[in-house]
Amino acid sequence: MELFFGGKIITGASSAEGALVVDNGRIIKVSTEENAAETLAAEYPEAVKTDLKGLCIMAGGIDAHVHFREPGATGKADMETESRAALLGGITSVMDMPNTKPATTSIQAVKDKIALAQGRMWTNYAFHIGATNDNADEIAESAGMSMPGLGAIKVFLGSSTGNMLVDNQEALDRIFSIKTRPVLIHSEDENIIKKNLLEAKEKYGDNVPFEEHPNIRSRKACIMSSIRALEKAMDCGTHLHLLHVTTAEEVHMIRAAKIQKAKITGETSLNYMTFCDEDYAVLKGKVKCNPAVKTAADRQLLRDAFHDGIIDTIGSDHAPHLLSEKDAPYLNCPSGVPSVQQSLSGVITVALDEKTPLEKVASAMSERAADIFGIKDRGYLKEGYIADMVVFDPEKEFTVGKPAYKCGWTPYEGRTFKGWIKDVYLAGRKVVADGVLVEEKPSGQPLLLEPLRDA
Ligand SMILES: [Zn+2]
Repeated sequence: MELFFGGKIITGASSAEGALVVDNGRIIKVSTEENAAETLAAEYPEAVKTDLKGLCIMAGGIDAHVHFREPGATGKADMETESRAALLGGITSVMDMPNTKPATTSIQAVKDKIALAQGRMWTNYAFHIGATNDNADEIAESAGMSMPGLGAIKVFLGSSTGNMLVDNQEALDRIFSIKTRPVLIHSEDENIIKKNLLEAKEKYGDNVPFEEHPNIRSRKACIMSSIRALEKAMDCGTHLHLLHVTTAEEVHMIRAAKIQKAKITGETSLNYMTFCDEDYAVLKGKVKCNPAVKTAADRQLLRDAFHDGIIDTIGSDHAPHLLSEKDAPYLNCPSGVPSVQQSLSGVITVALDEKTPLEKVASAMSERAADIFGIKDRGYLKEGYIADMVVFDPEKEFTVGKPAYKCGWTPYEGRTFKGWIKDVYLAGRKVVADGVLVEEKPSGQPLLLEPLRDA
């Protein structure tokens, strides 16, 4: 039993000095009343005491959008290396995307990934299942299952990654009629992108400059696709989670949908709150990602939307590639930015810069993700919840160093962040101490998603 006191307890609802008690892996008491530390110390005299003076304690980060590349591309990244980096960054649970090789487009493929993860994941985990034009039956079946490690449903409406581009109306109708799981949408219109790419090739030949990326994967491609997705979701009553929102227009759409009380939620990533189109001239392939980062005005609006709670969650979209691959010319350069280790500190930095209350960080980085995905017993600093927790120093500025990823780089390296991740707890066990991994072997557990209710 351990009593934490002297620090600020940050939840989506409040940020206040207080104390909490952890026993047997779970939070059994949280108090922000006056003299909470003394009261709880008297109530639990056997508890080991940990002083968090000057620090903040929050539920561990839930990153529902990572690409750990396993199986199929373990030269770039694997479950063990990337989950270790995530843990060091204060992320205690991840949900991995289905565009691996083979693609995770069947229940069996999810089971295979769960088997691969066993004993190798430093964080808790689940694996999303990807929709195709031909697997609607299996997707519907998965939505009714209660299997630890099984994630939500991912639909690539725009970008064909493997065979996962879904454009068959009948298949989409069936998927959008699912009510028990969120439907995650990658929203970019493939036809608009193809046309833009063709034009760029005509103009520049093989030497398309990286600055063209936001013109090729244009805002129009995002907006047109999102209009269709939101309209359909509102018709069908789908729990639609719009992934990596990049444009002001999509933020406004989500805001409008919420006024209509539609079950529309939105995610952005730190990449879109940090970089803008001007960075392509300098950082080139290192910030090539899909969707493209848009303008400085979009970046500011995304920061405002995080402040206002219009953006519900922040996923890293951690998508590692080797530096040698990212150094290739535009047309051969793969898209994706490695960032899971920087995500939480980076979001704390954005919050402090924008004078956004830290409550919003707790909300976007864990509580809302737990709600939207129906994650059982995690994501909150609340009595009865599993003690996945992160302790950070909001005052401490630091320079982002070499990340722990297998690929060994991130575009955030060298930037100044606030919100240093000091300690990380997984089910009450200290696994990171003073920024250093102290756990001997991975102990992440599969996440259990509970069916969503139509409330
Ligand atoms: Zn992604």
